[in-house]
Amino acid sequence: MNVDAIIIGGGACGLMCAVQAGMLGKRVIILEKSEKPGKKILISGGGRCNYTNIYIEGDEYISNNPNFLKSAFKQWTVEDTIQFFETYGLTGEEKTLGQLFPTNKNAKDVVKIFTQLCDELGQDIICNAHIIEVKNLDNGFEVIYNAGIKEEKLKAPKLVIATGGLPISKMGATDYALKFATKLGLKIQPTAPALVPLTITGKDADWYAKLSGNSVFCRVSNDKISFEEQILFTHWGLSGPAILQISSYWRPGEYINLDFLPDRSIQEIIENERINNGKWLLSTLLNKFFTKKFTESIGLYLPLEKQLANLNKDDIEKIQRTIHHFKVKPAGDKGYDKAEVMRGGIDTAELSSKTLECKTAPGLYFGGECLDVTGWLGGYNFQWAWASGYVIAQNL
Ligand SMILES: Cc1cc2nc3c(=O)[nH]c(=O)nc-3n(C[C@H](O)[C@H](O)[C@H](O)COP(=O)(O)OP(=O)(O)OC[C@H]3O[C@@H](n4cnc5c(N)ncnc54)[C@H](O)[C@@H]3O)c2cc1C
Repeated sequence: MNVDAIIIGGGACGLMCAVQAGMLGKRVIILEKSEKPGKKILISGGGRCNYTNIYIEGDEYISNNPNFLKSAFKQWTVEDTIQFFETYGLTGEEKTLGQLFPTNKNAKDVVKIFTQLCDELGQDIICNAHIIEVKNLDNGFEVIYNAGIKEEKLKAPKLVIATGGLPISKMGATDYALKFATKLGLKIQPTAPALVPLTITGKDADWYAKLSGNSVFCRVSNDKISFEEQILFTHWGLSGPAILQISSYWRPGEYINLDFLPDRSIQEIIENERINNGKWLLSTLLNKFFTKKFTESIGLYLPLEKQLANLNKDDIEKIQRTIHHFKVKPAGDKGYDKAEVMRGGIDTAELSSKTLECKTAPGLYFGGECLDVTGWLGGYNFQWAWASGYVIAQNL
């Protein structure tokens, strides 16, 4: 069977690419390794799929070349994503910080839109496809695969690799794109888990474990960036949205800073309160801002039983440091099984930013998470997957 393009990987990018190509009258076939397409879409956003973010400007992505995505984001905007889903009956509502989730629908409905459109447009999705070999022909590509008992061959002038990143192998993640690119001699930016919980070991581990289940609104920062959202204490360390966000900017051996009262000054609060409430214990004051459990735990470092009026300069300095500059040195991260995305990937310098075609292999395209484009938490990664799928489709 000959088609206009073969897409390896039926996730967010591959599905969008197939649908958009179909709308342009081009015939493609998706070869998907798993038993069904879009498995990561199905588990995304806790099964609700945070499919884009209305505040995307382009600066919320980590890449060796932060400008690379600009052209794709001009060609396919957040508004295009919203309209695309609305056209097929899925409207969105903002949950928090611009994150759009389907209204009265969920991730299954997102995948269904793509599978139904592929059906209507005559784009085949072949599941359980094991890729055996990809041959570069004079006028295109031949893909040899096995999706049953015998080997099959497909030929097409164009080939799209949209096999995603390394997180969650049980959801179908593989290093296929990275290996494929390496074999072609393409440069890879070092990969690591991102949007991932951080672990604490050693003498402090118990302190975190005792707080397990508690969350606190925090400013989490390092010398590169800061995020204000909840953090969650767990029996092995730290999770929650603010921790996932900073994890993408954290490197082993580095500290992160937790500010438990962002935008307020505990020193000022103490100075004001002790005018009228000097007899209050420090614990009474802290309980106004934090759970009892948290106050008790942070109290390990603080004179909780002292009255506000009796706090001296050293005490106040210590309180200020502990509440606003709580230093954490994570031991590591929870790895690809718990990461939402992969940082790094195929170096964008290897591709045209306008078409996502490989500069040294005409007719070959890469899209989605396998590239060195990593978004923040909150719909940013799907926007990149949709946009890159759309852009490639325009050029097949
Ligand atoms: C738990 C979790 C929750 C997430 N929630 C969100 C969210 O709410 N919002 C958001 O923006 N992002 C979210 N993400 C990130 C988002 O899912 C990915 O960034 C996005 O799916 C990447 O799209 P992709 O098409 O590049 O890869 P994928 O969607 O991963 O698709 C790749 C496809 O290729 C297939 N494949 C892999 N290897 C092969 C091979 N050798 N041969 C054939 N097929 C192959 C895979 O089975 C898969 O179907 C989440 C990720 C996780 C893990």
